[in-house]
Amino acid sequence: MRFQIRSYADTVALESHCIICDNFMTVGLDLLDYRKKIMNSDFGIINLACPVCGMNDSLYLVEVL
Ligand SMILES: [Zn+2]
Repeated sequence: MRFQIRSYADTVALESHCIICDNFMTVGLDLLDYRKKIMNSDFGIINLACPVCGMNDSLYLVEVL
C-alpha cells in the first residue's frame, strides 16, 4: 500500500488492525479525512469499516507509516 500511494501527496498510509477478523492491514486515507477524523475523535483513535469482513468501526488505526 505504501508503494502504491507514494505518488499521492494527499494520501496517508496507516497500519490498522481489525478486532473482528484479527487481521493487520495497511489502508490509505485521504489526508484531510484523516485530519478530520483525528480532530473529531476522543482519544486519537480512528475506527473504519474493515474491507475484509465488512464490519463497521471494527478497523482500528494503529500507526501512521
Ligand atoms: Zn475485519
